[in-house]
Amino acid sequence: MMVTGTLINLYHVCKRELWLHANGVRMEHTSDVVTEGKLVHEVSYPQRTAKYEEVRIGGSVIDYYDSKAKVIHEIKKSASKEEAYVWQVKFYIYLFEREGIEGVVGILEYPLLRETQQVVLEDADRKILDRMIMEIEAIVEDEACPEGLSKRKCGQCSYFEFCYSGESEEE
Ligand code: SF4
Repeated sequence: MMVTGTLINLYHVCKRELWLHANGVRMEHTSDVVTEGKLVHEVSYPQRTAKYEEVRIGGSVIDYYDSKAKVIHEIKKSASKEEAYVWQVKFYIYLFEREGIEGVVGILEYPLLRETQQVVLEDADRKILDRMIMEIEAIVEDEACPEGLSKRKCGQCSYFEFCYSGESEEE
């Protein structure tokens, strides 16, 4: 299997979501949150396509790459900064390095917060990512779907109905 930036992200969010996504159980089409995220991309950066390239690398798709400046731009519609996003971008830089392209950095952009955050790959991160990739492979290849988060931590996850339909509100 190919570990992607999305799986790196989900590894930090919820191991169950990671397993469901990687094993082809998809609910995103039913999610308003995912639709809203796409809208944020389109509305925030209407001129993007002319300035940046889409890059496909190691099974991942990077929507906005500035090849001249060697900067990955990753846009998140979230109203809070999250560690999962930082690792996703570090992973993209790691993929570039694996292809022999050095000196790439990332910028996380939060249009709703009107903030940006620079992301670099530090020496210790490479080993952490190697370990993370092995753990992700083990989770995904396990026949058993992992335990989920407790209900109140699930936010607006598109799998919420899948995980919790039939349970009472108090659970
Ligand atoms: S609903 Fe909760 S437990 Fe289920 S996949 Fe989403 S975050 Fe994980």
